[in-house]
Amino acid sequence: MFNVSYEEIVSKIKEEKNISDEEIELKIKEKLAKLSDLISKEGAAHIVANELGVKLFNISKELKIKGLLSGMNNVIITGKVMQLNPVIEYKKENREGKVGSMLLGDETGVIRVAFWDANHIKNIEENKIKEGSILKLKNGYVKSNGIFKELHVGNKGEIEIDPPGVEIEVQDKPSFDFAKKKISELNENDNNVGVLGTIVQIFEPRFYGACPECSKKLVANDGMLSCKEHGSVNEVLVPILNLFLDDGTDNIRVVAFRNQVERLLNLDIEKIKEFREKPENFDRIREDLLGKQLVIVGRVVKNEMFDRKELMAQRIIELNPEELVRELEQ
Ligand SMILES: [Zn+2]
Repeated sequence: MFNVSYEEIVSKIKEEKNISDEEIELKIKEKLAKLSDLISKEGAAHIVANELGVKLFNISKELKIKGLLSGMNNVIITGKVMQLNPVIEYKKENREGKVGSMLLGDETGVIRVAFWDANHIKNIEENKIKEGSILKLKNGYVKSNGIFKELHVGNKGEIEIDPPGVEIEVQDKPSFDFAKKKISELNENDNNVGVLGTIVQIFEPRFYGACPECSKKLVANDGMLSCKEHGSVNEVLVPILNLFLDDGTDNIRVVAFRNQVERLLNLDIEKIKEFREKPENFDRIREDLLGKQLVIVGRVVKNEMFDRKELMAQRIIELNPEELVRELEQ
């Protein structure tokens, strides 16, 4: 479940609790017997570790992007810089600083990475880290902003740029590791569910002010915008795009944020921001996108105000005609 093997769990318990292998295995056997062998040996080991207060998330081992889970600490990962974002300055009551961010990819997926340490950010500003660089990151931690998982690298983090002999094949082919459904079959709270449909309506992007640290929407407080957790910060504008997808069984409103908007429109954030001043420029893009078929993977939520289901896009997969035919034939 957490990418940790049975042996690793046992050795972690041994290291933290100073009890022998035999004792640990006995506890695991007892647990298995108690649960009438309904769970696996790994599952029983997880429960025993939990009961002993041993945090398995703290195991340092190199992971792949797909295996990252919110709450993990001491993460080691190697990936290729797919997209480097401009460094952003933020100001809070008691401190100010900068945050650098990028999309990092490996053969299993892509994740947004945020850097908080001035020395790391300097590497970005001085162009030592560029798009295409390979980075080995240590001591990162994984957080979720409610929609996406993100890897954070703070001042305990370490970066190795272009480690010798390391090559990364970034996954550019879409992986279909999601539950495929028809729009009419979608249920509230479905997660990682993918639908193949046609864009039948698309609206101009809108923007909201988000916290540069946690990406959550800023709320008005005494006439000032602030983050519930981080106080008054310099807002980052995050684009939101609404569209309707139809697959013949029904249609659904799809809401896409930030990276997914960039990907869908094939434009970077600066270009997208220009639609605020010149919404009429969006007409041409709308024409290009209407009728386009794609797979949207996401989470189904209920919009209480309008009493309807909406799909929050986590991943947008554009299919080439060959893949499309294959998907449609299934
Ligand atoms: Zn915040």
